[in-house]
Amino acid sequence: MVTPYRPTMTDVTTRQSQENTAFETRPRPSRAPRRSARAPRPRHANALALIAGIGLGLSVGLAFVGQSIASFGTAGGWFTFAGRLTGLSGTYLLIIMVLLVTRLPWLEETVGQVRLVHWHRTVGGWPIAIIALHVVFITLGYAEASHVGVLSEFWTFLMHYPDMLTATAAFVLLVVAGVSSIPAVRRTMKYQTWWAVHLYLYLALILAFAHEIKTGVMFIGHPLTLDFWIALSAGALGTVLAIRFLRPLARNLRHQLRVTSVREEAPGVYSLVIKGRNMTRFEVAGGQFFQWRFMARGLWWHSHPYSLSAMPRPPFIRVTVKRLGMQSLAATRLKPGTRVFVEGPYGVFTRHARRGGRVVLIGAGVGISPIRALLEDLPERTDVTVILRASTIEDLVHRQEVTQLVSERGGQLHEIVGSRKKVHLDGKALRKLVGNVSNTDIYVCGPAGFSANITETLMRLGARHERIHQEAFAF
Ligand SMILES: Cc1cc2nc3c(=O)[nH]c(=O)nc-3n(C[C@H](O)[C@H](O)[C@H](O)COP(=O)(O)OP(=O)(O)OC[C@H]3O[C@@H](n4cnc5c(N)ncnc54)[C@H](O)[C@@H]3O)c2cc1C
Repeated sequence: MVTPYRPTMTDVTTRQSQENTAFETRPRPSRAPRRSARAPRPRHANALALIAGIGLGLSVGLAFVGQSIASFGTAGGWFTFAGRLTGLSGTYLLIIMVLLVTRLPWLEETVGQVRLVHWHRTVGGWPIAIIALHVVFITLGYAEASHVGVLSEFWTFLMHYPDMLTATAAFVLLVVAGVSSIPAVRRTMKYQTWWAVHLYLYLALILAFAHEIKTGVMFIGHPLTLDFWIALSAGALGTVLAIRFLRPLARNLRHQLRVTSVREEAPGVYSLVIKGRNMTRFEVAGGQFFQWRFMARGLWWHSHPYSLSAMPRPPFIRVTVKRLGMQSLAATRLKPGTRVFVEGPYGVFTRHARRGGRVVLIGAGVGISPIRALLEDLPERTDVTVILRASTIEDLVHRQEVTQLVSERGGQLHEIVGSRKKVHLDGKALRKLVGNVSNTDIYVCGPAGFSANITETLMRLGARHERIHQEAFAF
């Protein structure tokens, strides 16, 4: 029997909170962190894009240094030139690909990690293909010039040219990383294996560097171009070191986070409360996530993204984790006292993304967790409607807290509970719950299929694309 769709409008004033933790909703503590995470700075992001464009122009221009018109007429001249062009532009683009996922603060705050990773994935194959062309063109060019076969020339490169063996090793690493990112291959790999393979890209860039400056005609006898290339490579390496290692290290030394308690919130969903030092300086906006590294056996070497499920209550922060695979299962069994290393905060699923006054928050399953934190962080007078979706009432994560927060704001809360087959959150239902969405900011967080469906429905109802904000729980 199909149960007719009947959304529940919760009477937010009658329910009592049954929870008694540091995160039970109450007036924001006076010792709340001094600053929320920074608002997006599109101008800075645009400036970075401009610098990247100029860098690409300069790198392509380097191919002309040491190149005469006459050299095009010599045997293999065109191939050699094409080899230089592809080598320089491919290496430059590879550096940009690495920087895109380095979590540069200006880019991350404005574009968000999910979109940066998407860009990286969409164009990440290009530098590898361009560098493959470099190998082919240079070998063809030199083979023609020396009047020998391609394989013979390749062997000469390996045996007699400086640092060509390490450059070949770098190329193999590049190809392995590229192949591992093909969706069909990626699906067969564990996330950690794929991630470890990707780490070799850094090694590839380092291994290839010596052959670039020792064999590139644009660098030999041209100190200015050599200085540019060294500055570019060292700058990229320094940026990665500073942002991925030194900055998080300094932050973690400052806060020294440790697990305080682990509690089941809903079937298979656990809250981890974490305590730290100097937590009034722990800046984060509601809805943001961190990369979490739990310093326990078998867990310390990989980090996973989890969103905060409440604004910090110094000295505590909280994250809510759904048991899914090995890491999340182990995380929910952590012992109090376990050290935690975090990187972040990341993400643009925050109040800063709003364009207007009215806000609708839609969360499903463990996706309710960042919605709960975002709700707490919205400016006081925001007109807010919250829709929570789950299969059973017990699956409504942080239900009491959301109820109380909505009540304090005088907002509306709708709980849509029931199996997907029987209870539909379709266009008709959404229209009934939220009315006109054309001038509304809508935040959606839940399983990928759920978020995609809701977004499509909202667009049909007249919502504006730039005002639908999604947090996907997968990169
Ligand atoms: C921005 C963001 C915020 C998130 N916030 C939360 C949250 O608040 N609560 C919550 O329960 N879950 C959250 N997740 C999902 C959570 O990170 C994954 O469920 C978790 O990493 C799964 O790891 P596992 O070893 O338990 O499962 P696995 O079986 O190893 O993986 C399950 C799925 O998670 C993906 N995954 C595994 N490791 C990672 C990783 N390090 N980075 C990205 N994806 C990974 C895998 O590709 C796979 O699709 C979030 C994910 C993202 C991207």
